[in-house]
Amino acid sequence: MNETVIITGASRGLGAALAEQLLAPSRRLIVIARGVNPALLERARALSAPLDYHQHDLSQVEATAALAARLADDLGAMPRPSRYVLINNAGTVEPVALAQHLPAAAAAMAMNLNVVAVMTLSAAFLAATQAGGAERRILNISSNAGRRPVPGWGVYCSTKAALDMYSRCIKAEQAGAANPARVCSLAPGVIDTEMQSVIRGSSSDQFPQLERFMQMKAEGTLSDPASVAGRLIEYLNRDDFGERDIDDIRNY
Ligand code: NDP
Repeated sequence: MNETVIITGASRGLGAALAEQLLAPSRRLIVIARGVNPALLERARALSAPLDYHQHDLSQVEATAALAARLADDLGAMPRPSRYVLINNAGTVEPVALAQHLPAAAAAMAMNLNVVAVMTLSAAFLAATQAGGAERRILNISSNAGRRPVPGWGVYCSTKAALDMYSRCIKAEQAGAANPARVCSLAPGVIDTEMQSVIRGSSSDQFPQLERFMQMKAEGTLSDPASVAGRLIEYLNRDDFGERDIDDIRNY
């Protein structure tokens, strides 16, 4: 398929697995993360797959708005593909802290990364891809944590709940629009990534469910990032993608 895919947080974890599986000569990948992913760059070269790697901190609001504007210009200047995809995957679970111990600066960074950056990139994506009739899909990587309260994860749960609602608002706006973009906020299940190491490294004082997450790792019940990425890509390609604005990959 001739398409352009933007993925945030492709330096490791789920985003890296998604990017690696999506590399192809017929697909332009645009990825954003603070760190590099040498294996991804190497594989792109080996496959002659177009890859634009932007090293960027998505928690910086002004700089992210500037990056989004540059990406929109680039999308406008490139030959139009048959499909555009935006995968908002980058995220942080920090700060892990009970409400009375909230570190305000870390909370603001999480809001900026998990929510404001998604809104900023979605805005640029929607505006830049509107003309021309190409299909447009936005996949927001959410979490079950946005759909039920978890003590110690007040910030994380709130950001993912915001992501779910923002996806629903975009869907409502696009209903009836010419060439409507499709959007889904999808929970990916519990995956064996660095985010889980951060969770296991939190203190049980601030995160009362710590033992349960230690146990999941010990029992080997965490999903492998590559297999989750494969299932998410299948989901992204479904004909009915976007009919459910809130979903969970574990339903399939
Ligand atoms: P990781 O912590 O392993 O990876 C996070 C990715 O986001 C990295 O590529 C990281 O790159 C990027 N990122 C983090 N901060 C920034 C920043 N300030 N600017 C740009 N990029 C940033 O997490 P996962 O792969 O586990 O998580 C991916 C998504 O899945 C997240 O949205 C998470 O909430 C969600 N999720 C994960 C679950 C799990 O069990 N792992 C469960 C449910 C949902 P870098 O540090 O190089 O910038």
